[in-house]
Amino acid sequence: PTDLNALADEYLRLAYQGLRAKDQSLTIAFRLNLDPTLGRVNVVPQEIGRVLLNLYNNAFYAVQQRTRNLAPGEGEPYQPQVEVSTLRENGHVELRVKDNGTGIPSEIVGKIYQPFFTTKPAGQGTGLGLSLSYEIVTKGHGGEIRVASKPGEFTEFVVRIPG
Ligand code: ADP
Ligand code: MG
Repeated sequence: PTDLNALADEYLRLAYQGLRAKDQSLTIAFRLNLDPTLGRVNVVPQEIGRVLLNLYNNAFYAVQQRTRNLAPGEGEPYQPQVEVSTLRENGHVELRVKDNGTGIPSEIVGKIYQPFFTTKPAGQGTGLGLSLSYEIVTKGHGGEIRVASKPGEFTEFVVRIPG
């Protein structure tokens, strides 16, 4: 039985430390909405930790890209944001990771779980993060993973696990 709130928080710190070690110029505002009634859930913590790391790293990349795409001095000030939520519903828990980065174009959203699918330049992405996450969540834990995204606005991944 795992405390998913603690896991989500621990891996967020790990991921952000990793990012800051490479890019000191990017500051992300975090919002954590961790459900205090979540309780413990039967998961393999290292595996769900892998899923969280993948989702966090993808979110960080997306806000970093959006920052880079901004024309200097133009438009609204942009504050990179990542929101992490947990919630308990009847018979399952949800982990949500939402970023206000580039978003996912509708033409590619159907391909993101395919092994080796990546839009990142060589050396920056393997295209394995989401396919592995999909396996871990669905086959490994009997759960579901879904995404909602609006290009130029947000991307939100929702992981639902029975328990
Ligand atoms: P990788 O990160 O190595 O590219 P993933 O399997 O983690 O591989 O993701 C596959 C692709 O899905 C990414 O290359 C990107 O195009 C898209 N993607 C995933 N998460 C996000 C996100 N939060 N925002 C925008 N695009 C995303
Ligand atoms: Mg990835």
